[in-house]
Amino acid sequence: MICMIIKMIKIFLILLISMNILVNIVVKSFIYKRRVFTININSQTRCINSNQYTLENLLNLCDTTDKIKSIASNSDGLKYLKTILSHKRAMLYFKQSSTRTFLSFQNACNILGISTSEIRDISTSSETKGESELDAIKTFSQYSDLIIMRHPSNNFIYEISDNLPNDTRIINAGSGTDQHPTQALLDFYTIYKYGLENKKIAFVGDLFRGRTVRSLSLLLNKVKGTKLYFVSPKQFQIKNDILDKLNVDYELTDDFDKIIQEVDVIYMTRLQDEYKNEGINDNEIIDTSKYSINSNNINKMKDDAIILHPLPRRNEISVEVDKDKRAKYWQQCENGMWVRVALIMSMFGASKL
Ligand code: ASP
Repeated sequence: MICMIIKMIKIFLILLISMNILVNIVVKSFIYKRRVFTININSQTRCINSNQYTLENLLNLCDTTDKIKSIASNSDGLKYLKTILSHKRAMLYFKQSSTRTFLSFQNACNILGISTSEIRDISTSSETKGESELDAIKTFSQYSDLIIMRHPSNNFIYEISDNLPNDTRIINAGSGTDQHPTQALLDFYTIYKYGLENKKIAFVGDLFRGRTVRSLSLLLNKVKGTKLYFVSPKQFQIKNDILDKLNVDYELTDDFDKIIQEVDVIYMTRLQDEYKNEGINDNEIIDTSKYSINSNNINKMKDDAIILHPLPRRNEISVEVDKDKRAKYWQQCENGMWVRVALIMSMFGASKL
């Protein structure tokens, strides 16, 4: 009798374990099935200039970013993401100082399982032996599937793009005073989360040398009902090459006190004074003190407006503003990593999540 009971318990336990395994398989395959939502891939293998993206590309990227964030919200999902591009290698070539963009790309690669190598200090490169920069980067491309480059020149990114084989993915992580397309993509995503259409957006600060504003205004130019305000002293106003490309309504002004009350998004920027001889007379004293947000003027803003900044900041946003619900620049910074994950995935055509 006891033997019989033990036998039945054993059978029961075996059944229980098998059921558990079965349920696990079914649930997991369901989860993975749900993950297999095809993302609409932009499939451009280069990210050089923000103007290369259509509105459809941008909305796809935002959608992909949302999906990636939701998958990454649990450890199972994170493990899965790490398998997606684990056979790829990336080279980060940063010839200009960077903390956020560098780390954000490094972490984005890491999330996708991409192994990275880096050159940040040119004194360790064979360029010091007289090798041309183009040759140096051609060499790196032999070891990497993706080159992520930040460079002080406005044009070198185009030279690289023209000279590397088509299957080498290239991302412009900032080219001189001209372009910073991935910053623009993450800024766009951040605005998208608050609603894109019919927004009044003010760019404030050094718009003459600020590459983030140049790149982002070209993206916002594709959105219905946008009105852009370029707010700065006239010496720091945005250049005509960007204005000439705008189809949306825009206004140039130096009256921040008026604009702060009217707009839905305020995009602050710092003085880009590391660029010398770029058309600004450094000896001229230009008063920039009124182009800042602080406890004296923040209450003039609309209640549902948001404040963005590509960072690093100086005194154009006071620290006390950080506590205000409209301050979204830290969130913007975090969004950067996820948008870059989405971008890299789509550049490799990794369309299944
Ligand atoms: N981090 C941004 C850039 O690299 C903004 C800045 O540096 O002011 O352009």
